[in-house]
Amino acid sequence: MNKIAIIPGDGIGKEVMDAALHVLDSIGLKFDYKFGEAGDEYFEKYGIALPKETIDLVKSSDACLFGAAGETAADVIVRLRQVMNLFANLRPVKSYPNTNSLFDNLDFMIVRENTEGIYVGQEEFIEDGAVAKRIISRKASERIINYAFNYAMENNRFKVTCVHKANVLKKTDGLFKETFYNIAEKYPKIDKEDFYVDATAMYLLTRPESFDVIVTTNLFGDILSDEGAGLVGGLGLIPSANIGEDAGLFEPVHGSAPDIAGKGIANPIAMILSAGMMLDYLGLNTEAHKIDLAIQEVLKEGKVLTRDLGGNSSTMDLANEVIDKYNEI
Ligand code: ATP
Ligand code: MG
Repeated sequence: MNKIAIIPGDGIGKEVMDAALHVLDSIGLKFDYKFGEAGDEYFEKYGIALPKETIDLVKSSDACLFGAAGETAADVIVRLRQVMNLFANLRPVKSYPNTNSLFDNLDFMIVRENTEGIYVGQEEFIEDGAVAKRIISRKASERIINYAFNYAMENNRFKVTCVHKANVLKKTDGLFKETFYNIAEKYPKIDKEDFYVDATAMYLLTRPESFDVIVTTNLFGDILSDEGAGLVGGLGLIPSANIGEDAGLFEPVHGSAPDIAGKGIANPIAMILSAGMMLDYLGLNTEAHKIDLAIQEVLKEGKVLTRDLGGNSSTMDLANEVIDKYNEI
């Protein structure tokens, strides 16, 4: 049985985690859950946001489900990414019916390099300002690009798009782009293309349906992922995955949402879809696919919706509706 670290964290993190675990239980999936603490509440009690026991728990588990951390998010999630060497951040851009999605038929994946680039934190003041180092190593580039192509192969995707700014960042992004085309040769069945990041920001608005898998460096991926979130509308809907060589951490894109916490009205879909991404990671692809279909069905029908989706149902009502639809598939 897979051992799963569960870190509900703060605010609505706890509520949407309860809902997601309820869905997994109810569709007959058995895991060895081990709960860990982290986040603002823990920090207020004990003066640290991410205790060693929680880090050890995540290290010794097959995967981790994470809810949300409030003010301490950086200390918790950024630290977990570092200690677990979670080098790939995956953000699906997928439109669901009856939502604020700007387009109807979007379904692509943004694969962001998550360990280096301009986010290595090597900044310093100089005489007349400040400078930041941007590190693009061959090893990390190969790792993320290989990951993107493998992801495409395993998920019936047909194309990988490399996003960069190699015309200006000739050495760093020159290397990233060159590595992309070298690795692409190993995947003759997958189409490949590359665009500058500025052009991509525009294409995401003018022809987003043309994308399938995007692979890019840290900062560009950060920005384009949020643009992708805007395209499909609604923080309550978007899951994410952080993947390492031997680890996976899955979390909704939204935060702890203190304004609605404790009321049982948060939308659990992003958390349930994050659990779905975990199932895919663990090889339970049929179940993951069925969860996705069940959520599509719930949204299409539009009878049981949380407030952010225009309804007045509770977090658990929506989770139960997902379970009902799952069982009908
Ligand atoms: P944090 O500091 O933890 O990021 P935040 O105040 O930035 O908290 P977010 O979670 O990022 O809150 O959410 C921003 C807004 O979106 C809030 O008004 C919140 O109520 C709403 N929101 C976020 N997630 C959900 C959700 N799952 N269901 C309903 N509304 C949500
Ligand atoms: Mg926030």
